[in-house]
Amino acid sequence: EKLNKKQRLYDINKEAARYFYYQLKTQRGQKALEYFKKRQITIDVIKKFGLGYANYYGDDLYKYLKAKQYSEALLLEAGIIVKDKKNNYTDRFWNRVMFPIFDVHNRVIAFGGRVLGDGNPKYLNSPETTLFDKSNNLYALNIARTARKDHILIVEGYMDVISLHQAGYNQTVASLGTAFTSGQARLLKRYTDNVLIAYDNDEAGRKATLRSIPILKEAGLTVKVLNLNPYKDPDDFINNLGPKTFDQRIENAQNSFFFELEVLNQDYNVEDPDQKTQFIRKIASKIVEMTNDIEKDNYIEAVTKNYQINKEHFINLVNELGSKVG
Ligand code: ATP
Ligand code: MN
Ligand code: MN
Ligand code: MN
Repeated sequence: EKLNKKQRLYDINKEAARYFYYQLKTQRGQKALEYFKKRQITIDVIKKFGLGYANYYGDDLYKYLKAKQYSEALLLEAGIIVKDKKNNYTDRFWNRVMFPIFDVHNRVIAFGGRVLGDGNPKYLNSPETTLFDKSNNLYALNIARTARKDHILIVEGYMDVISLHQAGYNQTVASLGTAFTSGQARLLKRYTDNVLIAYDNDEAGRKATLRSIPILKEAGLTVKVLNLNPYKDPDDFINNLGPKTFDQRIENAQNSFFFELEVLNQDYNVEDPDQKTQFIRKIASKIVEMTNDIEKDNYIEAVTKNYQINKEHFINLVNELGSKVG
């Protein structure tokens, strides 16, 4: 009974994805096609990602699925419809370009929808459901898991994933704006040992990068951070500078520890000896946390060189702080 219900929920999502895709072929769907075109997405990629359009009549999809004998209770549970103030059922997504979210077994489990221009919210996602556990899924991992690359690239959004895949970077996944979780990190570790973070080049993106690093490392992944300057996100970057330059950015991606230190460094004026001392203590305290001695040695070597710190004294400091921690 329970299994049967789950299967029905998968069926609803699949039917909905097909419906959204089909809308692109209709008169009303032309503006969605134009939107994708404006954002330089090809027809092949639209097909590959199953992109679509939810039109602006509020209950088209509801009626369509109802006619296929799916109950309101099940459609609500799938997150496809909502009940409005007057207790009428309506579609959740109106007048948005649609991005189906697949699990690693290529089953549609949810949707993201973007307004075609400016509007609020810019993106609307399915709620968490029996099928959609946000903290244990990553957008496009169903494709990225089969990419023959030595790393997986993590970006923020749907459009970043799609633009990068279109440019040949099929090792890209998105965490979809939510805080990265340990479940997602463990999921990635099944398919790769190395990740590159390419979050947006803004304050929010840098904060999200800083939060993700320890979570990814905890799962046993090595982490690097990609520099997108002067563009705001990977979609923007690839559309402006193209894959050759992006390849170089992958090549030159920064070790996550140095990324963390660089951000930290902004809080200290290292021209001031006292502040430099504090900064060095902070670095030492991060090295204390490392559990592997070889790793510790390598980082001690690197940071003392990089920040011109006396190595012997730095090792003393690390040992001193380490004995305090126990
Ligand atoms: P675009 O390029 O289409 O403007 P973006 O991906 O650059 O979009 P961001 O604002 O950087 O948009 O957001 C990154 C990701 O975060 C989005 O792709 C989406 O998954 C998620 N997101 C953004 N805004 C919202 C929102 N209001 N509600 C839910 N998720 C959101
Ligand atoms: Mn962003
Ligand atoms: Mn963008
Ligand atoms: Mn962005």
